[in-house]
Amino acid sequence: MRNGFLFGGGIRAGRVLGIPIRLDFSFFLAFVLIIFLLRGQLPGELSAVAQWGYAAAGGVVFFLSLLLHELAHSLTARRYGMEVSGITLFLFGGVSLIKEDSQKPSQEFLISIVGPLMSLLIGGVLIGVYWLGLRSTGWAFADLVGWLGVINVALAAFNMLPGFPLDGGRVLRAALWRMTGSQYRATRGAARVGQLLGGAMIVFGITAFFVDFGFFNSGWNSLWLAAVGFLLLTQASQGVKAAELERDLASLRVGEVMLAPPQARTVEAELLVSTLVPRRDALDHRAAFIVSEQDVAVGIVPAAAILMLDESRYQGARMREVMIAADAIQPVTRETRANEALRRLQRDHAFLLPVVEGGRLLGVVGLDQIIAGLRGPQPSQRGL
Ligand SMILES: [Zn+2]
Repeated sequence: MRNGFLFGGGIRAGRVLGIPIRLDFSFFLAFVLIIFLLRGQLPGELSAVAQWGYAAAGGVVFFLSLLLHELAHSLTARRYGMEVSGITLFLFGGVSLIKEDSQKPSQEFLISIVGPLMSLLIGGVLIGVYWLGLRSTGWAFADLVGWLGVINVALAAFNMLPGFPLDGGRVLRAALWRMTGSQYRATRGAARVGQLLGGAMIVFGITAFFVDFGFFNSGWNSLWLAAVGFLLLTQASQGVKAAELERDLASLRVGEVMLAPPQARTVEAELLVSTLVPRRDALDHRAAFIVSEQDVAVGIVPAAAILMLDESRYQGARMREVMIAADAIQPVTRETRANEALRRLQRDHAFLLPVVEGGRLLGVVGLDQIIAGLRGPQPSQRGL
C-alpha cells in the first residue's frame, strides 16, 4: 500500500537504510490482535509461557514482513529520485510516504508491483521452509511459520486487487496511463474501480455478519472486511478528487497566474525593510517584491520572509539582505505548467519562484497565486 490509509499520532521506531519508520498507535492494536490470532494456532498442550513466547515471535516476523513490503516500494521510489519521507505501520498494514507522483507509467508499475512481489517472496520462502524442513520436526513454532507464509501470500493477493490506492489499483493505473496517455484518466479509472471494490466489501462484509455464507468466516472477520472496504472507498474518492486537481493544475500556465509589476512592486536593493513596510500587520501575506539594482531585477522577497524576520532584523535589514537572489533558485517561465511549478515549490521548499525569460525577471509565482488561478479570475492583488 502507498500514500493511503493513515491515522494520526504514533512513535518513531528508528531508521532503516535512511528511511524513518513510524509506528502508528493503531499498529499496537494490530500487533496484539495478531499475537492472539497466532496463539490460537498453537497446540494446547504447550505451557502458557511457551504459547505467548511463540506467538510474540510470530508477531515480530509478521511485523518484519510488512516492513519489507513497504521497503520494497520505498527503495524503488528512491531509485527514481523520489523523496521518501518515511514508512508508517498502522492497524491495516503499512504505508510508504512517497512525496512525488510517478513521472511515467513504467515507474508507477514498478514501484507498485515490488511490494506484493516481496510479500509473495517472503510467503514462498516461509512456506518452503515449512514443507521442506520444519514440518517434520514437530516443533510447535513450525506451524506458525507455515501459517505466516500463507498470510504473506494472502497479503500479496489482497494488495493486488485492482482498486486504487491498493497496489493492484496502481498497477491498473499504470496500464491505463500507458494505454490512454492521460495520467488523469488513468487515476480516475483506477480510483473508480477502488470505489466499486470498497463499496462491494462494505456490502458483503455487513451482509456476511448477519448471514452465514458457509465459505466465509462470518462474525468479526466480516466487520473487519467492511471497515477495510470503507477505508478503500474513502481513499479512492480522494484519489478521484486529487486527479481532478492535478488535471486543473496542468491546464494552468504560470503566465496566467504570476504576480508581476505593478502588482508585485519593484523596490531598490538598498531600501530598509522597515521603511518599505512600516507596519507588518498591514502587509498582505500574498504580496511579493522584486528587488532591483540599477534597473536590473536581482532577486525576490516574499511577504512571508518579511513576516518571519525577528524584530532586530526587521528594523535593520535591507531588502538585499533578505531577498532570494534570482539565480539562487532555478526559475520557471510563463509557459511552465502550474502543476510543475507546484512540484518545484515543494521540492525546493520555496515560497516563491522567479519567472524569468531571456534573462529578464518578469514576476514571481507561489502557492497563493496558483490557488487564486484555480479559483478563476480574481480582483488584482496588491503589493502592499
Ligand atoms: Zn504495497
